[in-house]
Amino acid sequence: MTSGPGLCLNMDIISHVTGKETSTVNDTEKLLRRIPNVDKLMHSPVLAVSELPRTVVLDAVRGVLETLRRCILAGEIADIGDDEAICRAALEEARASYFAGVRPVINGTGVILHSNLGRACLSENAAGAAVRAAGSFSSLEYDLEAGERGSRTAALETWLKKLTGAEAALVVNNNAAAVLLILSAVAAGGEVVVSRGELVEIGGSFRVPEIMEQCDCRLREVGTTNKTRLSDYEAAVNENTRTLMKVHTSNFRVVGFTEAVSIESLAALGRSRGLPVIEDIGSGALVRMEKYGLTGEPFAADSLAAGADIVSFSGDKLLGGPQAGIILGKTKYLKLMKKHPLYRALRVDKMTVAALEETLRAYSDPDRAELELPVLIMLSAAPEVLREKAERLYKLLADNGIEAEVTQVFSTTGSGSVPGSELPSYAVSVTPGDGGAAALDRRLRLGETPVLGRIVKERYLLDVRTIFEKDIGKTAAAVSEAFK
Ligand SMILES: *Cc1c(COP(=O)(O)O)cnc(C)c1O
Repeated sequence: MTSGPGLCLNMDIISHVTGKETSTVNDTEKLLRRIPNVDKLMHSPVLAVSELPRTVVLDAVRGVLETLRRCILAGEIADIGDDEAICRAALEEARASYFAGVRPVINGTGVILHSNLGRACLSENAAGAAVRAAGSFSSLEYDLEAGERGSRTAALETWLKKLTGAEAALVVNNNAAAVLLILSAVAAGGEVVVSRGELVEIGGSFRVPEIMEQCDCRLREVGTTNKTRLSDYEAAVNENTRTLMKVHTSNFRVVGFTEAVSIESLAALGRSRGLPVIEDIGSGALVRMEKYGLTGEPFAADSLAAGADIVSFSGDKLLGGPQAGIILGKTKYLKLMKKHPLYRALRVDKMTVAALEETLRAYSDPDRAELELPVLIMLSAAPEVLREKAERLYKLLADNGIEAEVTQVFSTTGSGSVPGSELPSYAVSVTPGDGGAAALDRRLRLGETPVLGRIVKERYLLDVRTIFEKDIGKTAAAVSEAFK
Protein backbone atom coordinates (compact mmCIF):
# COMPACT_ATOMS: atom_id res chain seq x y z
CA MET A 1 0.00 0.00 0.00
CA THR A 2 1.21 3.47 -0.69
CA SER A 3 1.89 5.61 2.33
CA GLY A 4 1.66 9.30 3.02
CA PRO A 5 -1.34 11.58 2.79
CA GLY A 6 -4.52 9.93 1.61
CA LEU A 7 -3.36 6.58 2.94
CA CYS A 8 -6.66 5.83 4.59
CA LEU A 9 -8.68 7.41 1.82
CA ASN A 10 -7.14 4.77 -0.44
CA MET A 11 -8.70 2.20 1.83
CA ASP A 12 -12.23 3.28 1.04
CA ILE A 13 -12.63 0.46 -1.45
CA ILE A 14 -12.37 -2.05 1.35
CA SER A 15 -13.61 -0.12 4.34
CA HIS A 16 -15.72 2.76 5.40
CA VAL A 17 -13.53 5.79 5.84
CA THR A 18 -14.80 8.21 8.47
CA GLY A 19 -12.71 11.11 7.32
CA LYS A 20 -12.34 12.20 10.92
CA GLU A 21 -11.44 10.71 14.23
CA THR A 22 -14.77 9.57 15.62
CA SER A 23 -14.24 6.02 16.79
CA THR A 24 -13.91 5.13 20.45
CA VAL A 25 -11.26 2.91 22.02
CA ASN A 26 -13.82 0.12 22.14
CA ASP A 27 -14.60 0.40 18.42
CA THR A 28 -10.91 0.33 17.65
CA GLU A 29 -10.38 -2.92 19.53
CA LYS A 30 -13.35 -4.53 17.84
CA LEU A 31 -12.14 -3.50 14.40
CA LEU A 32 -8.60 -4.67 15.02
CA ARG A 33 -9.93 -8.10 16.04
CA ARG A 34 -11.85 -8.29 12.78
CA ILE A 35 -8.73 -7.94 10.58
CA PRO A 36 -8.61 -11.29 8.76
CA ASN A 37 -5.75 -13.74 9.01
CA VAL A 38 -3.12 -13.71 6.24
CA ASP A 39 -3.24 -17.47 5.58
CA LYS A 40 -6.98 -17.47 5.29
CA LEU A 41 -6.84 -14.68 2.70
CA MET A 42 -4.08 -16.42 0.74
CA HIS A 43 -6.37 -19.44 0.34
CA SER A 44 -9.35 -17.36 -0.73
CA PRO A 45 -10.64 -17.99 -4.28
CA VAL A 46 -9.60 -14.52 -5.47
CA LEU A 47 -5.93 -14.95 -4.55
CA ALA A 48 -5.59 -18.69 -5.05
CA VAL A 49 -6.02 -18.37 -8.81
CA SER A 50 -3.70 -15.38 -9.28
CA GLU A 51 -0.95 -15.95 -11.85
CA LEU A 52 1.46 -13.74 -9.87
CA PRO A 53 4.25 -15.27 -7.77
CA ARG A 54 2.98 -16.20 -4.28
CA THR A 55 5.64 -14.12 -2.56
CA VAL A 56 4.47 -11.00 -4.39
CA VAL A 57 0.84 -11.66 -3.44
CA LEU A 58 1.81 -12.40 0.15
CA ASP A 59 3.72 -9.11 0.45
CA ALA A 60 0.73 -7.24 -0.94
CA VAL A 61 -1.71 -8.92 1.46
CA ARG A 62 0.53 -8.10 4.42
CA GLY A 63 0.85 -4.52 3.19
CA VAL A 64 -2.89 -4.04 2.87
CA LEU A 65 -3.57 -5.52 6.30
CA GLU A 66 -0.87 -3.37 7.86
CA THR A 67 -2.35 -0.25 6.32
CA LEU A 68 -5.80 -1.27 7.55
CA ARG A 69 -4.41 -1.69 11.04
CA ARG A 70 -2.74 1.72 10.98
CA CYS A 71 -5.90 3.40 9.72
CA ILE A 72 -7.99 1.72 12.41
CA LEU A 73 -5.54 2.88 15.07
CA ALA A 74 -5.71 6.39 13.67
CA GLY A 75 -9.47 6.20 14.05
CA GLU A 76 -10.01 6.93 10.41
CA ILE A 77 -11.86 3.76 9.53
CA ALA A 78 -15.38 3.01 10.72
CA ASP A 79 -15.80 -0.44 9.24
CA ILE A 80 -13.85 -3.20 7.49
CA GLY A 81 -15.07 -4.67 4.22
CA ASP A 82 -15.40 -8.38 3.55
CA ASP A 83 -12.46 -10.68 2.77
CA GLU A 84 -13.10 -10.59 -0.93
CA ALA A 85 -12.79 -6.79 -1.05
CA ILE A 86 -9.54 -6.96 0.89
CA CYS A 87 -8.20 -9.66 -1.46
CA ARG A 88 -9.10 -7.60 -4.50
CA ALA A 89 -7.28 -4.60 -3.09
CA ALA A 90 -4.25 -6.79 -2.37
CA LEU A 91 -4.32 -8.22 -5.87
CA GLU A 92 -4.39 -4.71 -7.31
CA GLU A 93 -1.38 -3.83 -5.17
CA ALA A 94 0.43 -7.00 -6.15
CA ARG A 95 -0.11 -6.31 -9.86
CA ALA A 96 1.05 -2.70 -9.49
CA SER A 97 4.27 -3.68 -7.75
CA TYR A 98 4.97 -6.69 -9.97
CA PHE A 99 4.49 -4.82 -13.23
CA ALA A 100 6.05 -1.52 -12.09
CA GLY A 101 8.62 -0.21 -14.55
CA VAL A 102 8.85 0.85 -18.16
CA ARG A 103 5.62 0.58 -20.12
CA PRO A 104 4.71 1.78 -23.58
CA VAL A 105 2.69 5.00 -23.50
CA ILE A 106 0.85 7.02 -26.12
CA ASN A 107 2.46 10.43 -26.53
CA GLY A 108 -0.18 13.04 -27.25
CA THR A 109 1.97 15.91 -25.95
CA GLY A 110 3.24 16.90 -29.39
CA VAL A 111 6.82 16.86 -28.05
CA ILE A 112 8.70 14.67 -30.53
CA LEU A 113 11.82 14.08 -28.42
CA HIS A 114 10.39 13.88 -24.92
CA SER A 115 13.22 13.14 -22.48
CA ASN A 116 10.78 11.63 -19.95
CA LEU A 117 9.21 9.42 -22.60
CA GLY A 118 12.41 7.89 -23.92
CA ARG A 119 13.35 10.50 -26.58
CA ALA A 120 13.52 9.14 -30.14
CA CYS A 121 11.41 6.12 -31.05
CA LEU A 122 13.37 3.67 -33.15
CA SER A 123 12.29 2.65 -36.62
CA GLU A 124 10.78 -0.81 -36.90
CA ASN A 125 13.96 -1.99 -38.59
CA ALA A 126 16.18 -0.60 -35.85
CA ALA A 127 14.00 -1.99 -33.06
CA GLY A 128 13.95 -5.36 -34.82
CA ALA A 129 17.75 -5.34 -35.10
CA ALA A 130 18.05 -4.63 -31.36
CA VAL A 131 15.70 -7.51 -30.55
CA ARG A 132 17.64 -9.90 -32.79
CA ALA A 133 20.97 -8.85 -31.29
CA ALA A 134 19.55 -9.30 -27.81
CA GLY A 135 18.11 -12.77 -28.29
CA SER A 136 20.82 -14.55 -30.23
CA PHE A 137 24.57 -14.81 -30.59
CA SER A 138 25.93 -12.24 -32.99
CA SER A 139 29.12 -11.18 -34.73
CA LEU A 140 29.39 -8.30 -32.25
CA GLU A 141 33.14 -8.58 -31.80
CA TYR A 142 33.92 -11.26 -34.33
CA ASP A 143 35.20 -10.71 -37.83
CA LEU A 144 33.47 -13.42 -39.86
CA GLU A 145 35.71 -12.83 -42.90
CA ALA A 146 39.00 -13.06 -41.00
CA GLY A 147 37.75 -15.67 -38.55
CA GLU A 148 39.09 -13.76 -35.58
CA ARG A 149 38.26 -11.16 -33.03
CA GLY A 150 36.78 -7.97 -34.51
CA SER A 151 35.69 -4.51 -33.40
CA ARG A 152 32.17 -3.95 -32.06
CA THR A 153 31.85 -0.52 -33.62
CA ALA A 154 33.74 -0.92 -36.90
CA ALA A 155 30.60 -0.90 -39.08
CA LEU A 156 29.17 2.05 -37.14
CA GLU A 157 32.36 4.00 -37.65
CA THR A 158 32.33 3.29 -41.37
CA TRP A 159 28.73 4.50 -41.67
CA LEU A 160 29.39 7.63 -39.64
CA LYS A 161 32.44 8.56 -41.71
CA LYS A 162 30.51 8.00 -44.93
CA LEU A 163 27.52 10.06 -43.80
CA THR A 164 29.43 13.01 -42.35
CA GLY A 165 32.78 13.11 -44.12
CA ALA A 166 34.59 12.66 -40.80
CA GLU A 167 38.14 11.32 -40.75
CA ALA A 168 37.35 9.06 -37.76
CA ALA A 169 34.34 8.17 -35.62
CA LEU A 170 33.66 6.68 -32.21
CA VAL A 171 30.50 5.63 -30.41
CA VAL A 172 29.90 5.59 -26.64
CA ASN A 173 27.00 5.37 -24.21
CA ASN A 174 25.56 8.89 -24.66
CA ASN A 175 26.67 12.42 -25.41
CA ALA A 176 27.49 13.12 -21.76
CA ALA A 177 29.85 10.13 -21.92
CA ALA A 178 31.26 11.45 -25.19
CA VAL A 179 32.13 14.81 -23.62
CA LEU A 180 33.57 13.06 -20.58
CA LEU A 181 35.79 10.88 -22.75
CA ILE A 182 36.86 13.71 -25.05
CA LEU A 183 37.92 16.00 -22.23
CA SER A 184 39.58 13.20 -20.26
CA ALA A 185 41.59 12.15 -23.29
CA VAL A 186 42.64 15.54 -24.65
CA ALA A 187 42.43 18.06 -21.83
CA ALA A 188 43.03 16.38 -18.45
CA GLY A 189 45.23 18.41 -16.18
CA GLY A 190 44.83 21.57 -18.23
CA GLU A 191 42.42 24.37 -19.01
CA VAL A 192 39.43 24.29 -21.33
CA VAL A 193 38.25 27.62 -22.69
CA VAL A 194 34.43 27.97 -22.94
CA SER A 195 32.18 30.96 -23.43
CA ARG A 196 30.07 32.01 -20.43
CA GLY A 197 27.08 31.94 -22.75
CA GLU A 198 27.58 28.21 -23.32
CA LEU A 199 27.92 26.87 -19.77
CA VAL A 200 24.73 24.90 -20.14
CA GLU A 201 22.84 22.44 -18.04
CA ILE A 202 20.95 19.85 -20.06
CA GLY A 203 18.49 17.27 -18.82
CA GLY A 204 18.99 18.23 -15.17
CA SER A 205 22.36 16.56 -14.77
CA PHE A 206 24.63 17.31 -17.71
CA ARG A 207 26.32 20.50 -16.53
CA VAL A 208 29.37 21.66 -18.41
CA PRO A 209 31.26 23.01 -15.34
CA GLU A 210 30.70 19.75 -13.42
CA ILE A 211 31.84 17.58 -16.33
CA MET A 212 35.04 19.65 -16.50
CA GLU A 213 35.70 18.96 -12.85
CA GLN A 214 35.10 15.26 -13.33
CA CYS A 215 37.63 15.19 -16.16
CA ASP A 216 40.28 16.91 -14.09
CA CYS A 217 40.11 19.98 -16.33
CA ARG A 218 39.94 23.57 -15.26
CA LEU A 219 37.18 25.53 -16.85
CA ARG A 220 38.38 28.85 -18.22
CA GLU A 221 35.23 30.93 -18.73
CA VAL A 222 35.39 33.77 -21.22
CA GLY A 223 33.05 36.53 -22.34
CA THR A 224 29.65 37.20 -20.82
CA THR A 225 26.26 35.49 -20.86
CA ASN A 226 25.13 37.30 -23.99
CA LYS A 227 28.36 38.34 -25.73
CA THR A 228 31.62 36.53 -26.32
CA ARG A 229 34.18 37.69 -28.88
CA LEU A 230 37.19 36.00 -30.47
CA SER A 231 39.45 38.38 -28.54
CA ASP A 232 38.06 36.91 -25.30
CA TYR A 233 39.26 33.45 -26.32
CA GLU A 234 42.60 34.84 -27.54
CA ALA A 235 43.22 36.56 -24.24
CA ALA A 236 42.46 33.40 -22.26
CA VAL A 237 44.89 31.10 -24.05
CA ASN A 238 48.04 30.40 -22.02
CA GLU A 239 50.57 27.58 -21.57
CA ASN A 240 48.02 25.51 -19.58
CA THR A 241 45.33 25.66 -22.24
CA ARG A 242 44.57 22.25 -23.73
CA THR A 243 41.54 22.95 -25.89
CA LEU A 244 38.93 25.47 -27.00
CA MET A 245 35.39 24.24 -26.68
CA LYS A 246 32.03 25.27 -28.07
CA VAL A 247 28.77 23.91 -26.63
CA HIS A 248 25.46 24.20 -28.45
CA THR A 249 22.88 25.96 -26.29
CA SER A 250 20.41 23.21 -27.02
CA ASN A 251 17.62 24.00 -24.62
CA PHE A 252 17.50 27.77 -24.46
CA ARG A 253 17.98 30.77 -26.66
CA VAL A 254 19.49 34.10 -25.74
CA VAL A 255 17.71 36.85 -27.62
CA GLY A 256 18.42 40.55 -27.94
CA PHE A 257 21.97 41.87 -27.98
CA THR A 258 24.01 38.75 -28.46
CA GLU A 259 27.34 37.82 -29.98
CA ALA A 260 29.02 34.46 -30.23
CA VAL A 261 32.12 33.23 -32.03
CA SER A 262 31.53 30.93 -34.98
CA ILE A 263 33.13 27.52 -35.08
CA GLU A 264 35.14 28.68 -38.15
CA SER A 265 36.77 31.50 -36.23
CA LEU A 266 37.38 29.35 -33.18
CA ALA A 267 38.90 26.61 -35.35
CA ALA A 268 41.21 29.14 -36.99
CA LEU A 269 42.35 30.34 -33.56
CA GLY A 270 42.88 26.74 -32.46
CA ARG A 271 45.02 26.03 -35.52
CA SER A 272 47.15 29.12 -35.01
CA ARG A 273 47.82 28.16 -31.37
CA GLY A 274 48.14 24.43 -31.95
CA LEU A 275 45.07 23.61 -29.84
CA PRO A 276 42.29 21.15 -30.70
CA VAL A 277 38.83 22.67 -31.01
CA ILE A 278 35.87 20.69 -29.69
CA GLU A 279 32.24 21.26 -30.52
CA ASP A 280 29.41 19.59 -28.59
CA ILE A 281 26.60 20.14 -31.08
CA GLY A 282 23.95 18.44 -28.91
CA SER A 283 21.46 16.89 -31.24
CA GLY A 284 23.39 15.96 -34.32
CA ALA A 285 20.80 15.84 -37.06
CA LEU A 286 21.97 13.96 -40.15
CA VAL A 287 19.54 15.71 -42.45
CA ARG A 288 19.19 19.47 -42.60
CA MET A 289 16.45 20.65 -40.31
CA GLU A 290 15.74 23.81 -42.32
CA LYS A 291 13.56 21.75 -44.65
CA TYR A 292 11.23 21.17 -41.70
CA GLY A 293 11.24 24.85 -40.81
CA LEU A 294 13.68 24.44 -37.93
CA THR A 295 16.65 26.80 -37.89
CA GLY A 296 19.80 27.14 -35.83
CA GLU A 297 20.44 23.42 -35.38
CA PRO A 298 24.11 22.63 -36.04
CA PHE A 299 24.93 20.04 -38.66
CA ALA A 300 27.81 17.67 -37.90
CA ALA A 301 29.29 17.80 -41.40
CA ASP A 302 29.28 21.63 -41.35
CA SER A 303 31.05 21.72 -38.03
CA LEU A 304 33.76 19.40 -39.32
CA ALA A 305 34.06 21.28 -42.59
CA ALA A 306 34.41 24.51 -40.62
CA GLY A 307 37.48 23.06 -38.95
CA ALA A 308 36.30 21.55 -35.66
CA ASP A 309 38.75 18.83 -34.62
CA ILE A 310 36.28 16.90 -32.47
CA VAL A 311 32.47 16.97 -32.69
CA SER A 312 30.06 15.15 -30.40
CA PHE A 313 26.30 14.62 -30.30
CA SER A 314 23.51 12.30 -29.10
CA GLY A 315 22.16 9.28 -30.95
CA ASP A 316 18.60 9.60 -29.64
CA LYS A 317 17.77 13.21 -30.42
CA LEU A 318 17.21 14.47 -33.97
CA LEU A 319 19.25 11.58 -35.38
CA GLY A 320 16.38 9.31 -34.38
CA GLY A 321 18.38 6.35 -33.12
CA PRO A 322 19.09 4.66 -29.79
CA GLN A 323 20.74 6.34 -26.82
CA ALA A 324 24.36 6.81 -27.82
CA GLY A 325 27.11 9.40 -27.90
CA ILE A 326 28.76 9.93 -31.25
CA ILE A 327 32.22 11.40 -31.59
CA LEU A 328 33.60 12.50 -34.96
CA GLY A 329 36.88 14.12 -35.86
CA LYS A 330 40.59 13.80 -36.41
CA THR A 331 42.09 10.32 -36.14
CA LYS A 332 44.90 11.57 -33.93
CA TYR A 333 42.49 12.65 -31.18
CA LEU A 334 40.02 9.80 -31.52
CA LYS A 335 42.91 7.33 -31.16
CA LEU A 336 43.70 8.84 -27.76
CA MET A 337 40.06 8.34 -26.75
CA LYS A 338 39.98 4.73 -27.89
CA LYS A 339 43.04 3.98 -25.81
CA HIS A 340 41.70 5.74 -22.72
CA PRO A 341 40.49 3.41 -19.92
CA LEU A 342 37.18 5.29 -19.80
CA TYR A 343 36.36 4.13 -23.33
CA ARG A 344 35.83 0.56 -22.11
CA ALA A 345 33.61 1.79 -19.29
CA LEU A 346 31.54 3.96 -21.60
CA ARG A 347 31.16 1.55 -24.50
CA VAL A 348 27.83 0.76 -26.13
CA ASP A 349 26.03 -2.55 -25.68
CA LYS A 350 25.08 -4.89 -28.52
CA MET A 351 21.44 -3.78 -28.75
CA THR A 352 22.57 -0.20 -29.23
CA VAL A 353 25.14 -1.22 -31.84
CA ALA A 354 22.53 -3.15 -33.82
CA ALA A 355 19.88 -0.41 -33.59
CA LEU A 356 22.30 2.38 -34.46
CA GLU A 357 23.69 0.48 -37.45
CA GLU A 358 20.16 0.05 -38.78
CA THR A 359 19.33 3.72 -38.14
CA LEU A 360 22.44 4.89 -39.99
CA ARG A 361 21.70 2.47 -42.84
CA ALA A 362 18.41 4.29 -43.37
CA TYR A 363 20.33 7.56 -43.90
CA SER A 364 22.17 6.09 -46.88
CA ASP A 365 19.05 7.27 -48.74
CA PRO A 366 17.62 10.46 -47.15
CA ASP A 367 14.20 9.81 -48.70
CA ARG A 368 14.13 6.40 -47.12
CA ALA A 369 15.17 7.90 -43.77
CA GLU A 370 12.21 10.25 -43.90
CA LEU A 371 9.81 7.38 -44.52
CA GLU A 372 11.36 5.07 -41.98
CA LEU A 373 12.55 6.98 -38.91
CA PRO A 374 9.73 8.05 -36.56
CA VAL A 375 11.50 11.29 -35.59
CA LEU A 376 11.71 12.37 -39.23
CA ILE A 377 8.19 11.13 -40.01
CA MET A 378 6.85 13.25 -37.14
CA LEU A 379 8.97 16.28 -38.05
CA SER A 380 7.97 16.19 -41.69
CA ALA A 381 4.24 15.48 -41.24
CA ALA A 382 2.33 18.00 -43.36
CA PRO A 383 -0.42 20.07 -41.67
CA GLU A 384 -3.14 18.64 -43.93
CA VAL A 385 -2.07 15.10 -43.03
CA LEU A 386 -2.14 15.97 -39.33
CA ARG A 387 -5.54 17.58 -39.72
CA GLU A 388 -6.96 14.49 -41.34
CA LYS A 389 -5.46 12.33 -38.58
CA ALA A 390 -6.97 14.58 -35.89
CA GLU A 391 -10.34 14.38 -37.61
CA ARG A 392 -10.21 10.60 -37.58
CA LEU A 393 -9.45 10.56 -33.86
CA TYR A 394 -12.20 13.09 -33.27
CA LYS A 395 -14.68 10.95 -35.18
CA LEU A 396 -13.83 7.85 -33.13
CA LEU A 397 -14.38 9.83 -29.92
CA ALA A 398 -17.61 11.41 -31.16
CA ASP A 399 -18.91 7.94 -32.04
CA ASN A 400 -18.40 7.04 -28.40
CA GLY A 401 -20.36 10.10 -27.28
CA ILE A 402 -17.33 12.10 -26.15
CA GLU A 403 -17.47 15.85 -26.55
CA ALA A 404 -14.41 17.13 -28.39
CA GLU A 405 -13.23 19.28 -31.28
CA VAL A 406 -10.30 19.52 -33.66
CA THR A 407 -8.07 22.47 -32.96
CA GLN A 408 -4.85 23.99 -34.28
CA VAL A 409 -1.82 23.77 -31.99
CA PHE A 410 1.98 23.92 -32.10
CA SER A 411 4.22 20.92 -31.51
CA THR A 412 7.82 21.24 -30.31
CA THR A 413 10.90 19.12 -30.91
CA GLY A 414 11.83 18.86 -27.21
CA SER A 415 14.87 17.30 -25.57
CA GLY A 416 17.30 20.07 -26.13
CA SER A 417 16.83 20.50 -29.84
CA VAL A 418 15.90 23.69 -31.63
CA PRO A 419 14.69 25.62 -28.57
CA GLY A 420 11.74 27.88 -29.18
CA SER A 421 10.81 26.12 -32.41
CA GLU A 422 7.15 25.53 -33.06
CA LEU A 423 5.61 23.30 -35.70
CA PRO A 424 1.99 23.98 -36.64
CA SER A 425 -0.06 20.90 -35.87
CA TYR A 426 -3.56 19.66 -35.02
CA ALA A 427 -4.95 18.30 -31.79
CA VAL A 428 -8.18 16.84 -30.57
CA SER A 429 -9.34 19.02 -27.71
CA VAL A 430 -11.51 17.04 -25.30
CA THR A 431 -14.11 18.55 -22.95
CA PRO A 432 -12.97 16.95 -19.68
CA GLY A 433 -16.28 16.29 -17.89
CA ASP A 434 -16.54 15.52 -14.15
CA GLY A 435 -13.47 16.44 -12.14
CA GLY A 436 -12.01 18.68 -14.83
CA ALA A 437 -8.96 18.30 -17.05
CA ALA A 438 -6.61 17.26 -14.24
CA ALA A 439 -8.84 14.32 -13.28
CA LEU A 440 -9.12 13.19 -16.90
CA ASP A 441 -5.37 13.53 -17.30
CA ARG A 442 -4.87 11.31 -14.23
CA ARG A 443 -7.32 8.65 -15.42
CA LEU A 444 -5.58 8.55 -18.79
CA ARG A 445 -2.14 8.25 -17.23
CA LEU A 446 -3.28 5.37 -15.05
CA GLY A 447 -5.22 3.49 -17.71
CA GLU A 448 -4.39 0.14 -19.28
CA THR A 449 -2.57 1.96 -22.09
CA PRO A 450 -1.29 5.17 -20.51
CA VAL A 451 -1.99 8.28 -22.58
CA LEU A 452 -0.21 11.61 -22.05
CA GLY A 453 -1.59 14.86 -23.37
CA ARG A 454 -1.55 18.55 -22.52
CA ILE A 455 -3.95 20.60 -20.46
CA VAL A 456 -4.63 24.02 -21.96
CA LYS A 457 -7.21 26.30 -20.40
CA GLU A 458 -9.11 23.45 -18.76
CA ARG A 459 -9.28 21.42 -21.95
CA TYR A 460 -7.44 18.17 -22.55
CA LEU A 461 -5.42 18.26 -25.77
CA LEU A 462 -4.02 15.36 -27.76
CA ASP A 463 -1.58 16.56 -30.44
CA VAL A 464 -1.73 13.91 -33.16
CA ARG A 465 1.76 14.66 -34.52
CA THR A 466 3.35 12.38 -31.93
CA ILE A 467 0.64 9.72 -31.90
CA PHE A 468 1.61 6.78 -34.09
CA GLU A 469 -0.86 5.99 -36.86
CA LYS A 470 -1.24 2.47 -35.45
CA ASP A 471 -2.22 3.95 -32.06
CA ILE A 472 -5.13 6.16 -33.15
CA GLY A 473 -7.70 3.46 -32.42
CA LYS A 474 -6.03 2.62 -29.11
CA THR A 475 -5.99 6.30 -28.12
CA ALA A 476 -9.72 6.62 -28.80
CA ALA A 477 -10.38 3.45 -26.80
CA ALA A 478 -8.28 4.72 -23.87
CA VAL A 479 -10.08 8.09 -23.81
CA SER A 480 -13.47 6.37 -24.02
CA GLU A 481 -12.48 4.10 -21.13
CA ALA A 482 -11.44 7.13 -19.07
CA PHE A 483 -14.95 8.54 -19.45
CA LYS A 484 -16.67 5.38 -18.18
C1 LIG B 1 21.51 16.64 -24.99
C2 LIG B 1 22.83 17.25 -24.85
C3 LIG B 1 23.81 16.63 -24.08
C4 LIG B 1 23.57 15.35 -23.35
O1 LIG B 1 23.41 14.31 -24.24
P1 LIG B 1 22.96 12.85 -23.75
O2 LIG B 1 23.00 12.04 -24.98
O3 LIG B 1 21.63 12.99 -23.13
O4 LIG B 1 23.98 12.41 -22.73
C5 LIG B 1 25.05 17.24 -24.00
N1 LIG B 1 25.29 18.39 -24.63
C6 LIG B 1 24.37 19.03 -25.37
C7 LIG B 1 24.70 20.33 -26.03
C8 LIG B 1 23.10 18.47 -25.51
O5 LIG B 1 22.17 19.09 -26.24
